[in-house]
Amino acid sequence: MRLVILGGGESGVGTAILGKKKGYDVFVSDFGKIKDSYKEVLIINGIAWEEEKHTEDLVLNADLVMKSPGIPDKSPIVKQLRKKGIPVISEIEFAAPFTKAHFVGITGSNGKTTTTMLTYHLLKTAGLNVGLAGNVGKSFAWQVADNNYDYYVIELSSFQLDGIVEFKPDIAIITNISPDHLDRYDYKYQNYIESKFRITMNQTEKDFLIYDANDEAISEWLSKNKDKVKAKLIPFSLTDEFTEGAYLKNNKMEVKINQEEFTMETEYIALEGKHNLKNAMAATSVAKILQIRKETIRESLSNFQGVEHRLEKVLKIQNVQYINDSKATNVNSVFFALDSMNTPTVWIVGGVDKGNDYHELMSLVREKVKAIICLGVDNKKIIDTFGNVVDIMVEVNSMVEAVRMAQRLSEKGDTVLLSPACASFDLFENYEDRGRQFKQAVKNL
Ligand code: ADP
Repeated sequence: MRLVILGGGESGVGTAILGKKKGYDVFVSDFGKIKDSYKEVLIINGIAWEEEKHTEDLVLNADLVMKSPGIPDKSPIVKQLRKKGIPVISEIEFAAPFTKAHFVGITGSNGKTTTTMLTYHLLKTAGLNVGLAGNVGKSFAWQVADNNYDYYVIELSSFQLDGIVEFKPDIAIITNISPDHLDRYDYKYQNYIESKFRITMNQTEKDFLIYDANDEAISEWLSKNKDKVKAKLIPFSLTDEFTEGAYLKNNKMEVKINQEEFTMETEYIALEGKHNLKNAMAATSVAKILQIRKETIRESLSNFQGVEHRLEKVLKIQNVQYINDSKATNVNSVFFALDSMNTPTVWIVGGVDKGNDYHELMSLVREKVKAIICLGVDNKKIIDTFGNVVDIMVEVNSMVEAVRMAQRLSEKGDTVLLSPACASFDLFENYEDRGRQFKQAVKNL
């Protein structure tokens, strides 16, 4: 069997290793450059590869193709493969049959990584033999080749889900849905929603689907597609109560599943903000389904410190709290960031705008933001939107300048929040680079 892998990144190389181990004739083809460290791995393992091209003769003779999630369906080579009827699948689809592990699959527009890390932390603390995979960390396929886990917690982007055929998580989470990546979905929001719900398409009555009951797109899809969902539904909500599900009652988080109840005062949950309470509800639901002990859940929720670049507390200087939320690359995540601010806030925002509508932030900005620092090449939209609402608006050209300006504009008791609502490619390599530069600049104050 000839397995051709499009894309020589983490998931591509991981799939190559697993494919080789399982006896496939493996070929890796990347239209860009392959990182040296990955090339070495391919060479050591005797796997053939090419870069900066897709040679048709070497690709179109595949029996099976694994496409990296970054490659769009529109790309010419994928179109040609589809035309020839050659199956094109994702890493998860390829690797899953080679392990007997149970899967927890997590998707959504925001909160995937946080919920994935928290769920992993819960399972790991409980002593389960569990791997962490998907967009975070090491490739899933690579781990299937090298490890022997009983459980995997997998972060699944919509692109990963587009490439599944039979993959089925035992427990699925959809954290929320709001418009994102529409360029890959013919600019149709509905297509993106359908893609997210592929996470449940192969689930059976024995499986679980955990979801935000107050999310408009989720509720609407579920009400229209009742017949398509076989999994047991476990809703979570900050406002409603359920006989089975997760909800808030008297400042306590309650999770009721299989007649069993778990209760915890929200103030002891280490992650802050309403959005994180929802993430905690989703992760705790998984823990309850897997019958993890209450003590363990309590301990894990109270000591989980969150993930870098997601509302990450950096330092308090002269009683001003600096927070790095560089991963907030859309308006929805900034909404929750501002919502969780309890003090006057100096907000550092801007970057590459992906078609943002800032108006939904208006009332939060009015209430909480005392100054805006625009850190982008083109800040016109931000200035036009908030110019009349916030007294102080400043434009800067570098992170160091932004942080110095923030220090000047803040007083004791304030918060300085980097939550850009935009991609980072104008001034930074990526959101991690932007977040690290922020933290460094704060440490240098
Ligand atoms: P993803 O992996 O889906 O991009 P992350 O956990 O990395 O999600 O968080 C991305 C951004 O969204 C961060 O700014 C974070 O504070 C915010 N966020 C986290 N969870 C949620 C949620 N449930 N709803 C909205 N925003 C969220």
